[in-house]
Amino acid sequence: MIFILQTSIAQTKKITGFYEKNIDKELKLESEFDKNLSNINIGETIKKLSAEPHHINSPGNKRNVDYVLSLFDKWGWDTKIETFYVLFPTPETRILEMTSPGSYKALLKEPALKEDATSGQQGQLSTYNAFSADGDVTSELVFVNYGLPADYEILDKMGIDVKGKIVIAKYGHSWRGIKPKVAQDHGAIGCIIYSDPADDGYFQGDVYPKGAFRNEYGVQRGSVIDMSVYPGDPLTPGIGATKDAKRLDRLQAPNLLKIPVLPISYHDAAPLLEALDGPVAPAGWHGGLSFAYHTGPGKTRVHLKVAFKWDIVPCYDVIAKIQGSKYPDEWVIRGNHQDAWVNGAGDPVSGEAAMLEEAKSIGSMLKTGWKPDRTIVYCAWDGEEPGLLGSTEWVEEHKTELKEKAVVYINSDGNGRGFLYVQGSHALEPFMDEIAKQIVDPQTNVSIFERKRDHEAISENNAVAKKRIWDEKELKLDAMGSGSDYSSFIQHAGIPALNLGFGGEDDGGEYHSIYDSYNLYEKFKDPGFHYCVTLAETAGHAVLRMSNADGLPFDFTHLYKTIDEYSGELITLLRTTRETTELENQIINSGGYAAGEDPTKGYIAPLVKPEVPYLDFSPLQNALHQLEISIDDLDTVYQNKIMTSGMSVKFNQSLYRAEQQLLNETGLPRRSWYKHTLYAPGYYTGYGVKTMPGIREAIEQRNWKEAQEQIELDAETIARLAEYFKVLSSSPE
Ligand SMILES: [Zn+2]
Repeated sequence: MIFILQTSIAQTKKITGFYEKNIDKELKLESEFDKNLSNINIGETIKKLSAEPHHINSPGNKRNVDYVLSLFDKWGWDTKIETFYVLFPTPETRILEMTSPGSYKALLKEPALKEDATSGQQGQLSTYNAFSADGDVTSELVFVNYGLPADYEILDKMGIDVKGKIVIAKYGHSWRGIKPKVAQDHGAIGCIIYSDPADDGYFQGDVYPKGAFRNEYGVQRGSVIDMSVYPGDPLTPGIGATKDAKRLDRLQAPNLLKIPVLPISYHDAAPLLEALDGPVAPAGWHGGLSFAYHTGPGKTRVHLKVAFKWDIVPCYDVIAKIQGSKYPDEWVIRGNHQDAWVNGAGDPVSGEAAMLEEAKSIGSMLKTGWKPDRTIVYCAWDGEEPGLLGSTEWVEEHKTELKEKAVVYINSDGNGRGFLYVQGSHALEPFMDEIAKQIVDPQTNVSIFERKRDHEAISENNAVAKKRIWDEKELKLDAMGSGSDYSSFIQHAGIPALNLGFGGEDDGGEYHSIYDSYNLYEKFKDPGFHYCVTLAETAGHAVLRMSNADGLPFDFTHLYKTIDEYSGELITLLRTTRETTELENQIINSGGYAAGEDPTKGYIAPLVKPEVPYLDFSPLQNALHQLEISIDDLDTVYQNKIMTSGMSVKFNQSLYRAEQQLLNETGLPRRSWYKHTLYAPGYYTGYGVKTMPGIREAIEQRNWKEAQEQIELDAETIARLAEYFKVLSSSPE
């Protein structure tokens, strides 16, 4: 049965970018690579690397760094540590107490569990949000739901102002750093973030140790650096944080908050929330605690005091290389972070262990005399958790060299049982599609592409969407926002990038707590470590194909289609904004809010909004038309070169450097570090992507002048890419 299935997969093996004569050799290499991967070994690596707390600048972290270095060495890689010096605050004082109506002093502590061998260890970072400001504030408390801009609009309508108050927000629905930023913008003087049981606690399933969900004491640590402005060391934006780099004054760093923030468990949040008075919270704001949620403000006052040690600490990136035999100056880069908040068996060690297994397997192939055509670079990043520090500093430091040499960056992070997810540069869509159709899901023996599609089809309730998913013949790449180490590669340097992993059947609430441990991982996240093997196969095949391809497998038709789709979305977004604004204004003007709303609640009707103008999208549409034509021509040239074994070094280099044409050197408005025209994390969503962010966010913020400017800017960028392809296909060497 399995034999038949695998045969059928082998028969459909299509592999773009190789001359006919080299296809079998590549496929043989990949199956050789797979044979060296062991789930048992991955399990042992996870156990070893999560054996103690290993956040940046901890003794456990240095031991892991040295161990990982020794592994690469042993496997025959050319290995070194690159050290940067980054700002990393650790807590000295953390106090949260309710001072009225009753008194309650928050525990701010996750207890050890006898079922979890590492939960009682020394050296754990206490629960805090890295890059909160120092602060000592006492005020009335206001519950702001998830703390999104839309939640504050609802509070406005209720006549509730958070100015001078401390807010409490639930984790979820945005990147955590956005919550205190939006609170600060609204005049709040402090911010508490808690994990509600409705989101990752007992409302979802059994809590740890019985199940994997967050127990009442579990706290999500995490960074609140404003990554939507720039990630990496806050003191050295745009340049590597070397020992003598010129640094900003910390209090002037534009991505650091001005107010104190503290994350807490629902054990600590419940007494505060239960004491809140003021109106009952709007429908949809209630969580899983057993009382009616109120918004405050009122008699409930809290005292929040946090103070940090603001040290500059070493950040150790392990960089391991294998020199390419034909094109040593073309680099295929693969990375995963190695620092954790505490033990981090899931985040990041599961992904790191898969990556190390790939490196081990590549090492054993080296011993047989094999060499990749291009240079392969494997990176274990430090300081990802506080704000993508290690990877960002490395990219900033080596930007010029990377723009010349980097063919692709392939990232992973925590991994678990379930379904493939891939984000990345859209010219790599067919490349990942081929790989995903050739790798077998360990639980069901269908391809990981089919497993993903079928799961999405059966989970969809809308009949139209269900049919569309079911009919899908190709893997789709999601667009890249932020949240892991790919960000600086794609969004700052324009290096084509991929981010991949498995999940969806690995639910839990251990994220960034002391319970993200080996015990929890092997029991609930990926028993048998089979999906870590699948990750190693997927990422490994991508690395090997990219390093050996005769013609680099970038398919710009997919890039064109994606940009065209985004541009269509923006036109629709403007139209629906115009229509809904018109309708809302009519309702407001005719007294609809006064008549339709519950009169006992005293809601304030929203103000009439200015009309939405028409914008001129024609520059963008014209540029896209040029792009389509030039890509068609380029495709003909590419196919011809593959058929005639006529690829050249220069042609390949032009292919992988094309993504850089999509950079706009002035960057996005108010955040010039982000230079990619197509992808950026949202200014108000954090991790979540905004595609064609310059135009999209200007429309969303109703900044019409800026929207028109951004349309013209994006059109210029796209026209430049079209011209680049035109030159390439008219004089292909
Ligand atoms: Zn991670």
